[in-house]
Amino acid sequence: MARGIGTKCLHLEEEEGRCNHYGAISYPIFQTATFAHPGVGKSAGYDYSRLQNPTREHLEKVMASLENGIDALALSSGMAAIALMMELFRPGDHLIVDADLYGGSIRLFGNISEKNGISFSSIDCHKEDVENYIRENTKAIYIETPTNPMMNVTDIAKTAKIAKRNNLLLIVDNTFLSPYFQNPLDLGADIVIHSGTKYLGGHNDALAGFLVTNREDLSERFRFLIKTTGAALAPFDSWLILRGIKTLGIRMEKAQENAVALVNWLKGQKAVTKVIYPGLPEHPGYAIMKKQARGFGAMITFRLKNREFALAILEKVRMIQFAESLGGVETLITYPATQTHADVPQERRERNGITDRTLRLSVGIEDVKDLLDELDRVFAEIEGEQHG
Ligand SMILES: *Cc1c(COP(=O)(O)O)cnc(C)c1O
Repeated sequence: MARGIGTKCLHLEEEEGRCNHYGAISYPIFQTATFAHPGVGKSAGYDYSRLQNPTREHLEKVMASLENGIDALALSSGMAAIALMMELFRPGDHLIVDADLYGGSIRLFGNISEKNGISFSSIDCHKEDVENYIRENTKAIYIETPTNPMMNVTDIAKTAKIAKRNNLLLIVDNTFLSPYFQNPLDLGADIVIHSGTKYLGGHNDALAGFLVTNREDLSERFRFLIKTTGAALAPFDSWLILRGIKTLGIRMEKAQENAVALVNWLKGQKAVTKVIYPGLPEHPGYAIMKKQARGFGAMITFRLKNREFALAILEKVRMIQFAESLGGVETLITYPATQTHADVPQERRERNGITDRTLRLSVGIEDVKDLLDELDRVFAEIEGEQHG
């Protein structure tokens, strides 16, 4: 019988009933670069940690189980995962990518992949007909849903059908919802990407990235690439992410509950001109989210009436911290225009709706009353100053 996702965060079914490693409940950290061979032409299963390490392998099995894939690869960061994935393509290949993506992905595609002869069509996958952009040399569709930071929602199953029909790969960056709320492989995607730095690790203390697939050919290719290019996740960091994943379920639930309260509070503020959260029934992607995800997540993007108000919030928050990144237990606030999306050309940024009045909240697991008290104080102070 298929187990619940909360249980899968804690128990790896295939290893149960085997009392390994002195019966340790926490998976041991095999802090070793290399492994001794029992004899000539013999291996104990591990040769060198760039290829594989038991701690990393355990994490990879947990990730494959959470995303219902046949294989997962743990890399040193989300960007390392995306860069490795791009090695699937050759000069002359073309990819269709969502216009609103994590800024680092846009930077990689525009500065590295293009230099390597790969071309891109950046389109609004949530509202344009992807099929119109397919060329003879198109090899893949690359999306995030919801997107970072504008929360656009793309129908994964529908996009997967287009990909299959045209023999393209569908690649989904699932960082924003984590496997706890969404499983793109089940909806027809070929590759799922995660920045493990975010919800999976969950504590703002380690970088990690993942590629998960349910295709044997892609798994083999990725195994060759990680061995050859070398950005595998270190044993200790693998252990930190394993530890983080154990509480993924309760963290996601609590962060989402807090996010809903903050969304409702923000909607009641005169200084806030727009609140973008895919759990709001008026969000254009709400119905698709209901269909393809088990939750709406804990990321909120909102717009202030003027730039000064947005900047003043960043100056005045104390418990909520002004920092990049997301998905950790602590609530963080970000200014996408100069932080996560600073390297995205201004024209594209503005077209996507990232203005100098736009802020993004990654809601953590604090007591919600304390988050609301802080926002109350910050907004009251700014309103006092702007009118004074
Ligand atoms: C942070 C992030 C990445 C990059 O991950 P790193 O671990 O920071 O390298 C990729 N995609 C999304 C959606 C992200 O939020």
